[in-house]
Amino acid sequence: MKQVVSSDFKLGIMAGGQLGKMLILAANNWDIQTYVLDPSNDCPSANCCTKLINGSIVNYDDVYAFGQLVDAITVEIENVNVEALRKLKQEGKIVHPDPDALALIKDKGLQKQFYAEHNLPTSPFELYDGEQAIREAIDNGQLKFPFVQKARTAGYDGKGVAVIKDESSLKNLLAAPSVVEDAVIIKKELAVTVARNPSGETKCFPIVEMEFSETANLVEQLICPANVDAKITQQANELATSIITELNMCGLLAVEFFLDTDDRLWINEVAPRPHNSGHHTIEACVTSQYEQHLRAILDFPLGNTDIISPSVMINLLGEEGYTGSVNYDGLAECMKVAGAKFHIYGKKETRPFRKMGHATILASTLNEAKERANEVKNTLKVKATS
Ligand code: ADP
Repeated sequence: MKQVVSSDFKLGIMAGGQLGKMLILAANNWDIQTYVLDPSNDCPSANCCTKLINGSIVNYDDVYAFGQLVDAITVEIENVNVEALRKLKQEGKIVHPDPDALALIKDKGLQKQFYAEHNLPTSPFELYDGEQAIREAIDNGQLKFPFVQKARTAGYDGKGVAVIKDESSLKNLLAAPSVVEDAVIIKKELAVTVARNPSGETKCFPIVEMEFSETANLVEQLICPANVDAKITQQANELATSIITELNMCGLLAVEFFLDTDDRLWINEVAPRPHNSGHHTIEACVTSQYEQHLRAILDFPLGNTDIISPSVMINLLGEEGYTGSVNYDGLAECMKVAGAKFHIYGKKETRPFRKMGHATILASTLNEAKERANEVKNTLKVKATS
C-alpha cells in the first residue's frame, strides 16, 4: 500500500453519519484525507471531512464512481451497494470490510445461517417469506409463542424487530421477509468489539453491558466494564474472535450477545464497523474504536485496548414531543458534572428518539459514573427551539 499518512492517500467512507464523523476525527489526527459519500450536505461528517461527495450509498453507479476517487473504502453503515464494492475490489481497490462479509451481515437470515453452520451459539430460528407464512405456521402448530420476528434487511435501532408474546401482539407482525427466532430470557445484553487487520492480528475491546430503554427500543446506557464473570468475558472474546476470523474480514466487528438466566451466551447480531456500543472507547480506553478501525483497515499494528477508567455512555436522544431545529437544553449546566464528556453530532433537526449525540462519564468507580450519568440524563434534554 502506498504511504497513507500525510500524503495524497484518500480514504473513502460511506456514509456521513455520527459514526463516520468520529472515524474522520480519528483520521484527522493522522492527517489522512477523508472522502465521504452521503446525499446530504448537512450530514454530521460534512464539516470535518476533506471532501463530501453527494450521492446514494445504495446506488451502484454512485458507489462505483465514488470508488474511483479514493484509494481505500470503508463503511459506517452496512446498508450499502455491495455489487459496486465487489467490482471495485476486483479492480484492485482496497475495500474493508470485505463485500462478501457485508452481504452476509446485511441480511439477518444469512447471518443466522452462518452461525448455525459454524456451530456458533444463536437462538434457534426459521426463515419466513412474510406475515402470511408466519400466521400459517402458528395455525398449524409449527410456531409457538413467544417469538421474535426480525426483518431480514434494513432494520436498525430496534426498527424491524417485533417481539410477539401472544395472540394479542400478532398485530405487530412485520410484512417483510423475516427471521423468526426463539425469545431468549435475557439477564444481560453484552457486546464485544473485536478488530482484525490484513496480517491476521486480532484484538478485543473490554466487554460492555447495554441497558435498553423499553419505550425507545434503543440503548439507554452502556456500562464498561460489564459486571460479568471472567469466564463469560473469555467466552465472549473467543466467540467474537472466531466470527471475525471465519468471516475473513478486516476492520471492526461489534458482536452483540444475550446472556440468559442460565448464564449461557447467545450471539444476537454483528455489525462490521464502529458501533454505538464503542463510543466510550474515545475517552475510556487507550485506543478508541475509531482509531482501531483505521489501524485495522490500513494494516497498522492494532492498538492497546486497555481500560483507562470505568465509564457509562448515554445516548442523547431527541425528546418525545419535539421535532424541528435542535436545542440542547441544560448542556451548559451539565458541563459541571465531573468526568462528563459530550459529543454533539451536528444533526440540525431533532425528532423523538433520534440519536443527536452522546455523553461518556468517567469516574473511579462504576457506581459514581452511574450517579453522574443520571445527573446528566435528568438535566440535559434535546428539544426543538420553538
Ligand atoms: P437491531 O438490529 O434493530 O438493534 P436487535 O436484533 O438487536 O435489533 O433487537 C433489538 C432488541 O430486541 C434487542 O436488543 C433485544 O432487547 C430484543 N431481542 C432481539 N432478539 C431477541 C430474542 N431472540 N429474544 C429476546 N429479545 C430479543
